Amino acid sequence: MSKRLFNFCAGPAALPEAVLQRAQAELLDWQGKGLSIMEMSHRSDEFVAVAQQAEQDLRDLMSIPDNYKVLFLQGGASQQFAQIPLNLMPDGGSADYIDTGIWSRKAIEEASRYGSVNVAGSAKNYDYFAIPGQNEWQLSADAAYVHYCPNETIGGLEFNWVPQTGEVPLVADMSSSILSRPVDVSQFGMIYAGAQKNIGPSGLVVVIAREDLLGRARASCPTMLDYAVAAKNDSMYNTPPTFAWYLSGLIFQWLKEQGGLEVVKRVNDAKQKALYSAIDASELYTNPINVADRSWMNIPFRLADDRLDKPFLAGAEERGLLNLKGHRSVGGMRASIYNAVPQAAVDALVAYMAEFEKQHG
Ligand code: PMP
Repeated sequence: MSKRLFNFCAGPAALPEAVLQRAQAELLDWQGKGLSIMEMSHRSDEFVAVAQQAEQDLRDLMSIPDNYKVLFLQGGASQQFAQIPLNLMPDGGSADYIDTGIWSRKAIEEASRYGSVNVAGSAKNYDYFAIPGQNEWQLSADAAYVHYCPNETIGGLEFNWVPQTGEVPLVADMSSSILSRPVDVSQFGMIYAGAQKNIGPSGLVVVIAREDLLGRARASCPTMLDYAVAAKNDSMYNTPPTFAWYLSGLIFQWLKEQGGLEVVKRVNDAKQKALYSAIDASELYTNPINVADRSWMNIPFRLADDRLDKPFLAGAEERGLLNLKGHRSVGGMRASIYNAVPQAAVDALVAYMAEFEKQHG
């Protein structure tokens, strides 16, 4: 009997039960080889096949064009904050960054160590409750790239449009929104995402980079951080996190079985609608984000009186609704409803919210 509860954690986040069961079933003896996938050489035919299948499935899911490399790297999305300027910004060069929240600003801070960063647009003017339209941005023609974060995991702010940057490559931190709905990869120079939300377990960051952007790393870039080196070595310049890669592959297969990203989008749309409708219809709960800019994956909400936070969380836990506490910088609540969080979890949360409001509203 499974005792798995509903997990609304922002990351490491819920994984599909079917995937965990499959990993469990083949943990000790992977496909009759007499050992687990974790115990195999990353250079064995068996593991290379697993790695290649994972890449192919991700390519299929996202319709990644042939002129893009897919890299499975380490160091999380945070390492990309440095790796991107080291690879794409020439010495003494500059890049444009859009600031829509905490993760954008972390990227800005790190990039500033390597060159000049122009904050071309900022949600600051809207207290980070709305995304400034591109007509409010000041992009520079000579930027090495434009960086933005399509979904701010902490603030719960998401772009429902893709910036148009002409010849300047667009770089997107999709850590908390990748695979939540289809995107047109060809509009991006580079996409990257830490795995521990919609891709798989932590320990892996996926980079999807247009080929012409590889091979531009500055001379001082560490070998391990040079995208061209990673690409040339099929992401195996050194030992990759093999188990995380394998498990991510199982998630990609699971997403394909669900019917691909169009179906995933419909499911996620229904989930987000159910939760925002409940928040908006209530007297007790509020979400401050401009309606058009609301995140589908990370939904922060506050209770009218923060003295109710503790009893709300305690009651949620009693009902098997876990990890609803908001980020420490924001307070309140946050429900992260990634792909592996089913509609039933959202329904249970909405029912509990109504019940709690009846008692305390
Ligand atoms: N960017 C975004 C949008 C994130 O949500 C996170 C993690 N929550 C990060 C970057 C940092 O990821 P990591 O912990 O993999 O470095």
